[in-house]
Amino acid sequence: MILQHKFIENIPRDLEDNTIYISLEYCTAIHKCVCGCGNEVVTPISPKGWKLTFDGETISLSPSIGSWELECRSHYFIINNEKKFCKNVYNTNTFSLKKRLKMKRKRRR
Ligand SMILES: [Zn+2]
Repeated sequence: MILQHKFIENIPRDLEDNTIYISLEYCTAIHKCVCGCGNEVVTPISPKGWKLTFDGETISLSPSIGSWELECRSHYFIINNEKKFCKNVYNTNTFSLKKRLKMKRKRRR
């Protein structure tokens, strides 16, 4: 799913789905959570906040966006107007660790 971006001065009241609104005046980007839950996600653009990259056609935001405070707990990157969901890193690590331990045990036997 490709997102679209809009450079705007004032943030509109009703946000469209799959659209990232960028206000340079307020140094803020805002979009609806890409999981579809409809919650608004605000990403302040600042040296300590998010960095916005505009290559003339698409935008990227870094670091990743983790909406831990939302019920959906979505975690994704926006890279070149594409949303890329992150796997749950913690679970992945635990899983692979368990797998590795099992393999070690098997080898020992
Ligand atoms: Zn969501």
